[in-house]
Amino acid sequence: MTTNHPTIGIKKRIALVAHDNKKKDLLDWARFNRGTLSHHHLFGTGTTGSMLEKELDLPITQFKSGPIGGDQQIGAKIAEGEIDFLIFFWDPLEPQPHDPDIKALLRLAVLYNIPTASNRATADFIISSPLMAGEYENPTPDLERYQQSRQLIK
Ligand code: PGA
Repeated sequence: MTTNHPTIGIKKRIALVAHDNKKKDLLDWARFNRGTLSHHHLFGTGTTGSMLEKELDLPITQFKSGPIGGDQQIGAKIAEGEIDFLIFFWDPLEPQPHDPDIKALLRLAVLYNIPTASNRATADFIISSPLMAGEYENPTPDLERYQQSRQLIK
């Protein structure tokens, strides 16, 4: 297990998540960008992932549905360096039963310097960035050092 994520490779590992009122938005966006997305590894929470798989006819690694742990699973993958992109259309108008999980996922995305889009305009800018086509040296904070310093505290 590693806690550092120095490089985002050419083939990105992209997690896709949308709350119910935002699923149509994400499906539209993903359909429009199918060509680009097809060059990357795709992941999704249960419902979003299965809808996208049907819509795009592309393989999507599916986790549990968000409210029963899917957001936490994606957060864990980020912490382990196995996901390096997050497209998460969360709903700003409806409370969610798994609000703490959503907050935790968004927190880890910031901590690990994961490019994150919470709405369509940001997703458009991210996917059309010239950086999408190459490797990216991710200037992540040195979390190993943080972990070691915590282990010295007794
Ligand atoms: P879902 O989960 O794709 O299973 O609907 C999304 C979420 O609420 O995190």
